[in-house]
Amino acid sequence: MSSTNCIFCKIIAGEIPAKIVHRDNGIMAIEDVNPQAPVHLLVFPERHVANIAEHTFRGSADEIACLMEIAAELGAKNAGGFRLVVNTGADSGQTVDHLHVHVLAGRHMSWPPG
Ligand code: AMP
Ligand code: ZN
Repeated sequence: MSSTNCIFCKIIAGEIPAKIVHRDNGIMAIEDVNPQAPVHLLVFPERHVANIAEHTFRGSADEIACLMEIAAELGAKNAGGFRLVVNTGADSGQTVDHLHVHVLAGRHMSWPPG
């Protein structure tokens, strides 16, 4: 089920372009249009879910497992390590209300994040 006016649902539907790096089993990964690291990918389910807090795990735990597995596989291509980020809600900086995992790699990252 897609959501009208959702950027990622439009990418999934092919209505707006994106650099797709993975698509399988209901999970898509694209390059972030505004990269914050040399490698910056976004991994999301093709099913529209606003964020991780809205996700119903009962009956769909496989979806989250698949999402994280793909994110980790893509991140692990970088020898120096990687960071997975799931912004959730306004205070976190979430700007696209379609659950996604950021895969960041290719540079040293500080902690805590800003
Ligand atoms: P968040 O702030 O966690 O919701 O992350 C949303 C991410 O989506 C940001 O890093 C944006 O740069 C990225 N983004 C927004 N629109 C697009 C697009 N059309 N194609 C690729 N990435 C996008
Ligand atoms: Zn969506």
